Amino acid sequence: MINFNIPPFVGKEQEYIRQAIVENNKICGDGPFTKKCNQWLMDKTGTRKALLTTSCTHALEMAAILCDIKEGDEVIAPSYTFVSTVNAFVLRGAKIVFVDIRPDTMNIDENLIESAITEKTKVIIPVHYAGVSCEMDKIMEIANKYNLYVVEDAAQGVMATYKGKQLGTIGNLGTYSFHETKNYSMGEGGALLIRDKEFVERAEIIREKGTDRSKFFRGQVDKYSWVDLGSSFLPSEINAAYLYAQLEEAEKINNNRLASWELYYNGLSGLKDKGLIELPVIPKECVHNAHMFYIKLKDLEERTELINYLKERGIASVFHYVPLHSAKAGLEFGRFHGEDRYTTKESERLLRLPLYYGLKDIDVEKVISSIKEYFKVKEK
Ligand SMILES: *Cc1c(COP(=O)(O)O)cnc(C)c1O
Repeated sequence: MINFNIPPFVGKEQEYIRQAIVENNKICGDGPFTKKCNQWLMDKTGTRKALLTTSCTHALEMAAILCDIKEGDEVIAPSYTFVSTVNAFVLRGAKIVFVDIRPDTMNIDENLIESAITEKTKVIIPVHYAGVSCEMDKIMEIANKYNLYVVEDAAQGVMATYKGKQLGTIGNLGTYSFHETKNYSMGEGGALLIRDKEFVERAEIIREKGTDRSKFFRGQVDKYSWVDLGSSFLPSEINAAYLYAQLEEAEKINNNRLASWELYYNGLSGLKDKGLIELPVIPKECVHNAHMFYIKLKDLEERTELINYLKERGIASVFHYVPLHSAKAGLEFGRFHGEDRYTTKESERLLRLPLYYGLKDIDVEKVISSIKEYFKVKEK
């Protein structure tokens, strides 16, 4: 059986967890391992401040609080994304305005954003699908023109760049995920990246149950108290210890994933040349992180057939998001601006292939040959 995903494990995780428990005597949040992860993220990305969180979902919730989202505010996002991208803002009372995607990258179409802006719009949320960046220059230009915040959902974008800038550091705020399905993991976890100075202090407070505990620990105040709204958004040291082992090996993990990705791309390009499938497009200003390898089939029917064909051969392949604007909650909390030219159609054709740290070349070859075989059988 070739799994779709196996959580990353590089080797030192157990040792670091042992250290957290036995040497540091610290298993709650914000101990030495959390600090090391925060520092690693800041050094790697160059962002002003990085704070480890309990999930990317929670980092997005923090972002919604920091942007001061109020009942009736509007937020612009793609419909082709994970629920958390928008749920975080719906929880603060926002209405979601969905904009169509580009068929090449599956990212929000930057040229459709401006016409979706109203006087209620407060935030634009680009989602960097598959670790391939949205067209950030254009998005930042629009945001500056209309004085809007940009929150990058870079859940899939750790170690990927746009014009040399790490994803998650370009907008006012950015969010990462360290869920077990992502490139670097701590089981459940994430991070908030903060570009703007104005957000730093408040972010620390929100993350610590609305208290100024971080300042207290730094000796900046002599007692800590309740100063703002907030929740418990800081992860346990045990999770942070697991993650730190992976961040130390980030290049190795990234290169390993990229090698599998290249193998898929080259192996399947013959089918692409024959017009039977489409392969991912990486715009020239983007360096991706091999978060995902997907192909696009003719339609939903062909995709379902191929999923079953691969399953019979012991290969797990999966489709992805069902567009949010057509879901029950999407109808209630959002509206689609303009025409759904690509969101539904492209999402129905997309199929994700197995890709994880340590995936064997021989398994990639088996997936490739099975897909080729499917089309050969079909041709007859
Ligand atoms: C995985 C993912 C999330 C949620 O991440 P969690 O850490 O599981 O909360 C949000 N947005 C996108 C685009 C994702 O891929």
